[in-house]
Order: sequence, then C-alpha cells, then structure tokens
Amino acid sequence: MKRCPICETQYSNEADYCLKCKTLLQDQEEPPPGPRPKQKINVKGLVTAIIATFAFIGLMIFLYHLLANAG
Ligand SMILES: [Zn+2]
Repeated sequence: MKRCPICETQYSNEADYCLKCKTLLQDQEEPPPGPRPKQKINVKGLVTAIIATFAFIGLMIFLYHLLANAG
C-alpha cells in the first residue's frame, strides 16, 4: 500500500504517482520507532484521592457524632 504524502490518497503498490496531485507516492511505513512513553504513576492524583477519601470518612464520622449528640 502506498500513500500520497500530500492528499493522503491511498494507492496500490504498483502506483508510482498520485493521480490527483502528481506527487511521488511513498510506501506506507510504520511510525518511526521512538522512545515509548512510559506509563507514569500519577502520584499527585493518587495522594489527592487518598486525602479526599480520608476527608470524606472524617466528614462522615463528624456527621455521625453530630447526629448522635443531637439525638
Ligand atoms: Zn496526492
């Protein structure tokens, strides 16, 4: 499979030039090998989630005591 670099039209391997814009066709290649982006652990997000969880639990305990004392 060949692909026109200008208009992105795809042709078979036998085609040499794009019929639309007369551009020399390129073989469709795989994306260039580069350093793969490492999957980073979002520490900041994790800490925020933990803090939010504890804050929620704390709020629940606070409300529980508030209701218990009221009743
Ligand atoms: Zn073209």
